[in-house]
Amino acid sequence: MHHMDAKTAICLLINFLILVGGLWFFCRNLVKKTFQKRRDGIVEDLERADAARKEAEESNANLQRDNERNSELISGIIAQAEEQSERTLAASAEAAERDSKKITDRAAAEEDEFRGNMLQRVSTETVSRVADLTNEVLKLDEFADARQKLIERYIEKIKDLIVVQQSDILNMNELKKLKVKVSSAEPLTDEEMETLNRVIRESFISCENEVNADLVGGVSIKIGDTVYDGSLTHQLDRISQDIRSNTAAADTESKNITNAIAERLEKTHAEVDVYQTGKVISVSDGICHISGLSDVMSGEMLEFPGGLRGMVQDLQKDNVGCVLMGPFQHIQEGDTVRRTGRIMEVPVGEALIGRVVDAMGNPIDGMGPINTTEFRPVESPAPSVVDRKSVSVPLQTGLKAIDALIPIGRGQRELIIGDRQTGKTAIALDTIINQKGQNVICVYVAIGQKESTVAGVVDKLRSHGAMDYTIVVSASAFEPAPMLYIAPYSGCAMAEYFMYQGKDVLIIYDDLSKQAVAYREISLLLHRPPGREAYPGDVFYLHSRLLERAARLRPECGGGSITALPIIETQAGDISAYIPTNVISITDGQIFLESDLFYSGIRPAVNVGLSVSRVGGSAQIGAMRQVAGRLRMDLAQYRELASFSQFGSDLDKATRDTLNRGAHMTEILKQNQYSPMPASEQVVIIFAGAEGFTDDVELKDIARFERELIEYVKVSNPDILETIAGGKKMPAELVTRLKGVIAEFKQSF
Ligand code: ATP
Ligand code: MG
Repeated sequence: MHHMDAKTAICLLINFLILVGGLWFFCRNLVKKTFQKRRDGIVEDLERADAARKEAEESNANLQRDNERNSELISGIIAQAEEQSERTLAASAEAAERDSKKITDRAAAEEDEFRGNMLQRVSTETVSRVADLTNEVLKLDEFADARQKLIERYIEKIKDLIVVQQSDILNMNELKKLKVKVSSAEPLTDEEMETLNRVIRESFISCENEVNADLVGGVSIKIGDTVYDGSLTHQLDRISQDIRSNTAAADTESKNITNAIAERLEKTHAEVDVYQTGKVISVSDGICHISGLSDVMSGEMLEFPGGLRGMVQDLQKDNVGCVLMGPFQHIQEGDTVRRTGRIMEVPVGEALIGRVVDAMGNPIDGMGPINTTEFRPVESPAPSVVDRKSVSVPLQTGLKAIDALIPIGRGQRELIIGDRQTGKTAIALDTIINQKGQNVICVYVAIGQKESTVAGVVDKLRSHGAMDYTIVVSASAFEPAPMLYIAPYSGCAMAEYFMYQGKDVLIIYDDLSKQAVAYREISLLLHRPPGREAYPGDVFYLHSRLLERAARLRPECGGGSITALPIIETQAGDISAYIPTNVISITDGQIFLESDLFYSGIRPAVNVGLSVSRVGGSAQIGAMRQVAGRLRMDLAQYRELASFSQFGSDLDKATRDTLNRGAHMTEILKQNQYSPMPASEQVVIIFAGAEGFTDDVELKDIARFERELIEYVKVSNPDILETIAGGKKMPAELVTRLKGVIAEFKQSF
């Protein structure tokens, strides 16, 4: 008897099943409305054809020869059906032939279109259905030979793979024994068992064979916690997970699921996966305790049934605490957990730009999978001091109050802090919008916000063309705490990818108070002792290790930068609470926003007295530094006098002048949302104010004065703006000229 070539047969059948599964799904989801009737037809046809095909496989001994000739599955199916109809004259078979022919015709016609849509529409359901069907088919007798080969190859490979693992030693010390379990789909022969026994006896005592038809084919050995898995079920499971994880590694390598599965199965012949497993002891509130996994690493990614991922958070003597990254309702006590051997990682790369992803880097914007093959661990060490360079290039926010008084440089960490609804997010968004054309990639991490709020932010960014260079990472308020906890690190990993390529990145964490609360929740669930304000003792480290990763690198080390703008929400303006003081001490300065200012119409509501930027001054453009010194002084004097003058009625002229100047400067610093200004224009209007040109302009006219003055300078003396934008200090003659231009404009105002 000829045995058909295993690979070809598997591929053929899988190809067919893909079409069946894919067609079923395609019709169900895509052509639902238009092709309602046709869909019903196809579903019926599918079932009938499936039955017919199985019959054909059993009855037709010549199938193997035909298969060799027909490399294409469709013609294979037709030939099968034709031959079957020749032999069996039963009416049911004829009907089945007609049906299957109908299906294959339709399938051929729609295949192209289907494949085109495949990448976008691969659904979990389709994948698991295909995997299930493949599973069934592989159990058929035709594949007995192929399955036997798997066993032989496994036994051959395993010799080189088995080593005493760290965990085995631990287990032997603890339990004084080590269990070895060999599972195989079919009973192993004495000879095979003898070989395995010999291999294993070299390190371990005894071993017994348990037959487990669920494996479909192949063998798997479990020694202690370590599994040496060469079974077909495992391979199928990997395929489903690959495709389901949707991060497109599988999609880019192979154009469709057919190839993905075929490729994967091909590798099955050569690969034995070695991994460790543990068992779920308890699961609650997104926290899971696991036994076994003796040499698991802190921060390692674990795989649960159904493709759920978890991250190791707590290493105890006899169990491991793990946070679950996603819906965990299906996890039960006793479930098997698999080590991945990798620290938690997220996809990174250019493909993420313009996308909205969750904390694990999965797309949530409905724009299909993200085609990237690059990954980075969510936690990685910050650049060392010697790898860093001091801040010297400005990161313009486009906001007068900030660029003039609290300048930010590339690579700096500047905290935005204030009560709720004081315009914190507004400053961050304006800064992102202002990066257009500045060669800065932006990452906006939304932590614990409503999905609708984030959607609004994305819309705003898109309408200002800012999504062209921005990645949005969102862990919404409704997601489990671990997602909120991990989101900033994921965003940071995405930013680091660009920084180490020499690019400048701006990252916004909106906001870290919510991350701290999520971390407190996780810690309490892990029974860690609560400390100040019930936060765990290491909450400082939570934020410091995140913000330390923002840096400006020396050219030898990549030369890029990450500028971080973390946001913290205060309660009733209390910046001396635990989390605010922590983050203030970690960052290079803070922009303090106040409700009182916000409601009195001073927006952005920056408290100039309490805000500071410790390193950004050296990154400010020359002209701005020139005018800002005067502005800072005017405002300081104004603040000092303003509190007194509330009581006195008759003030001397000098005091009145100072108050008047301060009031005008405050007015000049007001700015609408979504209207960032180039630094050169900011300099012009601040210069006009500082030189007293606005002192006699009514406060309500200041906004119009600013608008018209800048328009005037743009039209009459564009070179002035260009020179200022050049970044140098304004030479004396330029200062004189600018004064002249402003005076000239004022006459017509
Ligand atoms: P939350 O605490 O809810 O996150 P927040 O501090 O981030 O609030 P925003 O959402 O940025 O505050 O702003 C609150 C409101 O104030 C928004 O409606 C926003 O449009 C408005 N706003 C913010 N800045 C300005 C501005 N410069 N001019 C006018 N309106 C502004
Ligand atoms: Mg906000």
